[in-house]
Amino acid sequence: MIFKIKLQKLKTIVEKITSRKVNITYTTMFEQGDNRKAVVTFNNIEANIVINSSNIKSVEDIIDAVAHETAHIILGTNEHSKRFLAKWNELFAEIKSKYSYVKKIVV
Ligand SMILES: [Zn+2]
Repeated sequence: MIFKIKLQKLKTIVEKITSRKVNITYTTMFEQGDNRKAVVTFNNIEANIVINSSNIKSVEDIIDAVAHETAHIILGTNEHSKRFLAKWNELFAEIKSKYSYVKKIVV
């Protein structure tokens, strides 16, 4: 499948949301059969989001995976609690809207 993803743009959006330096890697290095879309490591200064290309079918999939990992960063936990699910939903909407934002030029 073919789609365009602007990882640099996503990086900038997530850096603003998390107030950290963020690296996003899109890779084939996950084991075959690993059903995760992404994983994250983070501390107070930086975060590394690694996306599993095998489980991604669209730009929306990537935004969903990035929103999921960003929720872990914001909440500072690896739990998937109700609070986490709410934050994930909220971040998906926020990142999606910022990602597709086009600046209007008024002349
Ligand atoms: Zn998770």
